[in-house]
Amino acid sequence: AEWSTTWTWFDGAWHEGNPPIMGPRTHAAWLGSSVFDGARAFEGVTPDLDLHCQRVNDSAVALGLKATKSVGEMMELTSEGLGKFGPGTPVYIKPMYWAEGDGIGTIAGDPETTRFCLCLFEAAIAPKDASMSVTLSPFRRPTMECMPVNAKAGCLYPNNARAIVEAKARGFDNAIVLDMLGNVAELTTSNVFMAKDGVVHTPAPNGTFLNGITRQRIIGLLRKSGVEVVERTLSYREFQEADEIFSTGNYNKVVPINRIETRDLQPGPFAARARELYWEFAHG
Ligand code: PMP
Repeated sequence: AEWSTTWTWFDGAWHEGNPPIMGPRTHAAWLGSSVFDGARAFEGVTPDLDLHCQRVNDSAVALGLKATKSVGEMMELTSEGLGKFGPGTPVYIKPMYWAEGDGIGTIAGDPETTRFCLCLFEAAIAPKDASMSVTLSPFRRPTMECMPVNAKAGCLYPNNARAIVEAKARGFDNAIVLDMLGNVAELTTSNVFMAKDGVVHTPAPNGTFLNGITRQRIIGLLRKSGVEVVERTLSYREFQEADEIFSTGNYNKVVPINRIETRDLQPGPFAARARELYWEFAHG
């Protein structure tokens, strides 16, 4: 692999590429005790970086790890690290905590073994005219009783990965994933919105999916601009009959859906509006 566009702060220094930071007995590598977050730098801005740094600390605590870096420290390290990239380069910003553990058993053990790194790597943001197709995933989001879904934990993602792999195998770009009750939760790694008769709807957070930072930001921006946004329980049927569907997430911000199953959809005005409002917000 080519790691030359990656910089990682770890143990007090910046390392270029993909430094070996875990061993075969590291608890996180062995049994999945890691949390991370994803923020973005693009066009010289880093919107809501503070919220992403706060969330990785909350995720650490939720998984029984120790949040050893303050939001301010993480933000300072981020701006230092971004200096290693060309101005305006699109960068994925990934703070991560994991348990080193004692190398022995199921429980990670002493939270004092928690380790931290901040990994930055170059990654393009989907262009303005990007769009994607979706299908219904046969896999579902776990509940709080099944998995620690209140943490943005690495151990949750094999489930998201199998959902997207299954969708791609059937010729779709992404999948709508339901919660355990059979209502729409989110896409595989982003939140989902629909519009019908001039009103925007999105699933109400119910503990089974990530209440995305981009999701919350877009809801606020749309409402402030006069758009009605309703957070409620939504069925897949409603998405199939929607006028418009779009996704939100830190990675690509706002991306419209161009097809659901066999039904073509036009990227619509609400997705365009949401994207525009987000870019305005990001540039302050
Ligand atoms: N759901 C999942 C499962 C995700 O991985 C992400 C990306 N972090 C999101 C939703 C979107 O969240 P955010 O807007 O905070 O990036």
